[in-house]
Amino acid sequence: MSSDDKPVHTGGCQCGAIRFRVEGALGDASICHCRMCQKAFGGFYGPLVSVKDGTLRWMRGAPKHFQSSNHVQRGFCGDCGTPLTYEAADGLALAIGAFDHPGTIKPSVQWGIENKLPYVDALHELPGCSTEDDLASAPFLTDIRSYQHPDHDTKHWPVEPKQ
Ligand SMILES: [Zn+2]
Ligand SMILES: [Zn+2]
Repeated sequence: MSSDDKPVHTGGCQCGAIRFRVEGALGDASICHCRMCQKAFGGFYGPLVSVKDGTLRWMRGAPKHFQSSNHVQRGFCGDCGTPLTYEAADGLALAIGAFDHPGTIKPSVQWGIENKLPYVDALHELPGCSTEDDLASAPFLTDIRSYQHPDHDTKHWPVEPKQ
């Protein structure tokens, strides 16, 4: 919460070159199955939340853009490629996975279902493994160090590695 009790949501790209902050309530959250969102996210669908009446500020860096159609631009980090925005005449939406706490932004509708990939509805039926379950087949995971920006604002980034 900010000082005047407006909700605050923060987030950014994977490398930390770009950080954003939304003050005020977010709008509708959705997933979009359209072919453009599949490409833009490199994923099975695009998870997006409208900024709507909130105020979006880029706190560090700013996205590069790809004009994906005559009406829409897609913003992304030019350094690490994280998808960040969908920008159209009716407003701007942010990629839900780029927020620091995406678990609090629950989608309430699906768009573009005519392009839904045929296996998406059954993903939860796949066998599941935790990361630790995988150590035998990927031993490098035992001493892996993340260079991903943490899920909170930082004064200085990248931080110098501790000696
Ligand atoms: Zn980045
Ligand atoms: Zn879409």
